[in-house]
Amino acid sequence: MYLPQEIIRKKRDGEILTADEINFFIQGVANNRVSEGQIAAFAMTIFFNEMTMPERIALTCAMRDSGMVIDWGHMNFAGPVVDKHSTGGVGDVTSLMLGPMIAACGGFVPMISGRGLGHTGGTLDKLESIPGYNIIPDNDTFGRITKEAGVAIIGQTGDLAPADKRVYATRDITATVDNISLITASILSKKLAAGLDSLVMDVKVGSGAFMPTYQASQELASSIVAVANGAGTKTTAILTDMNQVLASSAGNALEVREAVRFLTGEYRNPRLLEVTMALCSEMLLLGKLADSAEQARKKLMTVLDNGQAAQCFNKMVAGLGGPTDFVSNYNEYLPVAEMIKPVFAQQSGTIISMDTRAIGMAVVEMGGGRRVATDSIDYAVGFDKFARLGETVNSDNPLAFIHARNEEQWQQAADALQAAIHIGDKSQYQATPEVYAQIRAEDL
Ligand code: URA
Repeated sequence: MYLPQEIIRKKRDGEILTADEINFFIQGVANNRVSEGQIAAFAMTIFFNEMTMPERIALTCAMRDSGMVIDWGHMNFAGPVVDKHSTGGVGDVTSLMLGPMIAACGGFVPMISGRGLGHTGGTLDKLESIPGYNIIPDNDTFGRITKEAGVAIIGQTGDLAPADKRVYATRDITATVDNISLITASILSKKLAAGLDSLVMDVKVGSGAFMPTYQASQELASSIVAVANGAGTKTTAILTDMNQVLASSAGNALEVREAVRFLTGEYRNPRLLEVTMALCSEMLLLGKLADSAEQARKKLMTVLDNGQAAQCFNKMVAGLGGPTDFVSNYNEYLPVAEMIKPVFAQQSGTIISMDTRAIGMAVVEMGGGRRVATDSIDYAVGFDKFARLGETVNSDNPLAFIHARNEEQWQQAADALQAAIHIGDKSQYQATPEVYAQIRAEDL
């Protein structure tokens, strides 16, 4: 028998907690025997003293096991259960293509996604711009659509990792969010409760990333790989670039439109294609659906080009309550803003850098994201045809097109974009790769 305050004191004094002590504390979080004050103190001791890898594994497993842990065994899927999670970005619509691409290659992707957080967009908010799409189906429907379409992207239900919900809410108001041990356990407890065989983690790097420096992103990636593999789920992390808007668009319905056009081959932004291929290829390797990266990429291009990935997406949308002809007729279904006009740079030149975080916040300001949890979302607003780093902008080539509800909103967004996109001389531009590094369990 333990006391929560003694566990906090032990960690405060720099000692290492046992798995039993961590389990006891987290069970107390889940059944409300541990108070909010004790959670705050526990989080703060970890903030200052960090946790060893065995402690992080114990914390992750305890939070994972605080609620339902899905077991897909009874579904008899004909392939591995694989998933991807991202630390969040701007114009990061990869999940909408990646899930169907993996499904078309024989994997099963029961993806539990989140809403927008801060400046980052949320997959669920994007999907909700599709009329009728139900992000909270019952568990049977979730399993059935995953089986039939190979992919189902839905929201988190209250019974997955409930301890994380309480811990996260307390961290949010006690300045303890930005800690690698706590972030690792928080992200993984929810993902691992989804009963995955393997996971690929997309850790963003750059001006729109959640972590402030390359080194911090790398530390988080290594922590996630060590802990997830330690908890029994094969996991690789990939560090990808978020120094610019990833897709050509940012905004909910605009990104869904881009995802469909990507799947049908109408238009594929090359950076988005590269990041999506890198993530998908690792998923196929972990799931033993390909023997080499080359073979994986070939399979993925095939299912993109022959329409099978687009079909899986359409099946998922229809199965979860959306239109049955969404992929063919997406323009008829997605909401459109009244005012669509280009915004030009104030001086001609080369785009040398972007404050990607500020661009994400500009979408939030337009109503495309939430400032407080109760805000409703305007799915139509945002940007598209975004210029990329290294491109020349002038009076012919705009920075982007703004989709706004009215002139005033358009102007505010234009001011924000002009301030966030930095123009200079071509010699000042340094190209950034799409993918910086890959961290596999064997690399640690
Ligand atoms: N996302 C999460 O789910 N948890 C964190 O701690 C940070 C980001």
